[in-house]
Amino acid sequence: MNAVTKTYKQEGHLVHALRGVTVSLPRGGFTAVMGPSGSGKSTFLHCAAGLDTPTSGTVHLGEVELSQMNETRLTELRRDKAGFVFQAFNLIPALSIVDNITLPLRLAGVRPDRAWLEEIIRRVGLERRMTHRPSQLSGGQQQRVAIARALVTRPEVVFADEPTGALDTTTAAEVLGLLRQVVDTTGQTVVMVTHDPVAAAYADHVLFLAEGMIVEEMRSAPAGAIARRMSDLGRQMAAA
Ligand code: ADP
Ligand code: MG
Repeated sequence: MNAVTKTYKQEGHLVHALRGVTVSLPRGGFTAVMGPSGSGKSTFLHCAAGLDTPTSGTVHLGEVELSQMNETRLTELRRDKAGFVFQAFNLIPALSIVDNITLPLRLAGVRPDRAWLEEIIRRVGLERRMTHRPSQLSGGQQQRVAIARALVTRPEVVFADEPTGALDTTTAAEVLGLLRQVVDTTGQTVVMVTHDPVAAAYADHVLFLAEGMIVEEMRSAPAGAIARRMSDLGRQMAAA
């Protein structure tokens, strides 16, 4: 991502959500994007994933440059190369768990690869829940279904926006452990937005956003060190 800006018009005035972000996210790595509410984290993720178009600047996903693409090509690219996990699990209530997981394949008109499907179901620990409905599962289990759905197309990158925002500490730890495992065992890339230092501690690379700019990058660190860095940055921003 190179010199990316994103400006929204809000009630007649301009909001600069991203102000010149240049960064490359390591392939096969787990990157956390941290920052206070309103710092541009979701906008960053949406631009990185081709869900939204920057006002200026360029974005590459793998080898391809997104800004030249029309909406149809972007939709295909997201479908083929990206998986998404959001704070709200966005499961379809009327579908069984297995049908929720394989939905992206059906939408793409692709036949599921049985071996891969079984492997991800095993990995997310949902073997005995396949015929259940989402409402019969706990929040943590539902988010694991959403992660399995994000993995089913074997995307190069999984984008997650506050994936543990609606979960308690214990189930959050399960979900984060699972994302960590995805990176470690399949070499897929995970980019996760969070405001929680405990969640960011699972990543091997932490970006800090403040007021639409990357103000700091850190190698993997324990939650305490990340939290201290966050509060130092908060104080610097307040003083500036
Ligand atoms: P974060 O995810 O860090 O909380 P966001 O990326 O959601 O931050 O938002 C950054 C800024 O951009 C905020 O000031 C927000 O109000 C504004 N913003 C985000 N999306 C839109 C939108 N669709 N229309 C107008 N303003 C937006
Ligand atoms: Mg957000």
